[in-house]
Amino acid sequence: MSLTVVTGSASGIGAATRAALLEEGKDVIGVDLAGADITADLSTREGRRGAVEAVLQRCGGTLDGLVLCAGLGPHVDDAERIVAVNYFGTIAMLDGLFPALRKGDHPAAVVVSSVSSTHITWDDNPLAAVVESGDEAGVGPALEVGGEYKGQFAYAGSKNALTVAVRRRVAEWGAAGVRLNTVAPGSVETPLLSQGMADPRYGQAIRDFVAPIPRHAKPEEVATLISYLLSPKAGFVHGSQLVIDGGVDALLRPTRF
Ligand code: NAD
Repeated sequence: MSLTVVTGSASGIGAATRAALLEEGKDVIGVDLAGADITADLSTREGRRGAVEAVLQRCGGTLDGLVLCAGLGPHVDDAERIVAVNYFGTIAMLDGLFPALRKGDHPAAVVVSSVSSTHITWDDNPLAAVVESGDEAGVGPALEVGGEYKGQFAYAGSKNALTVAVRRRVAEWGAAGVRLNTVAPGSVETPLLSQGMADPRYGQAIRDFVAPIPRHAKPEEVATLISYLLSPKAGFVHGSQLVIDGGVDALLRPTRF
């Protein structure tokens, strides 16, 4: 039976993806801070190492799917933690489980990025140099440029870097027969969004911004896209970022794609 690892499986998009995959008859190993098959804190090196080891032990070294959802929103006060989970936690799982995916059946991975990944360019991303060199200690100083909006820089910067990291891996992963893509959701009805809407710095802007399809996505809608990307039906989709945002990106950047 097909086996997929889902991080952030206890809530929101991760929980909806876990449920969708189980509904399809697949096996799922969930990873989260609590309420999952494997409990791990992906903000720390030890937590990431422990998570990779625990997954490899549980799956016997072979995996068919990987979905990396675990993440923190821009409202979180500890901006370095946002980068630690969103970027370093995700990359550690991605690279740590690549050898297991290589042995899988029609293997594929999906990284949950964000439309925020396009709110900053790689050339303007204050995190670009530190994340690519793996310099976690350099994240704090690099975020100083954000002032009181450090959280937004940490969020958009880490999501931009994640999408770049996926695109940088297409040759190696393609040659290994493992497909790798990102999804870039706009606003999705999850606890992360509710917390952002309640935040005094970001709440009003989130509430004021209405997508051309004037509602927020349901986590299940994002899960359906992820499930498609994992399936052999998406066999030639590799290195892509699939936007699911009710038209926001096209509205804001009609000439840039
Ligand atoms: P959520 O808060 O419902 O779920 C996030 C999950 O990540 C939680 O279960 C949480 O416990 C887990 N997590 C957080 N820190 C962790 C850590 N240190 N170690 C392990 N697990 C940890 O949020 P969500 O909206 O479902 O977010 C899922 C992903 O989708 C995130 O990467 C987020 O950035 C992205 N996203 C969300 C939206 C949105 O509007 N909700 C939009 C774009 C992208």
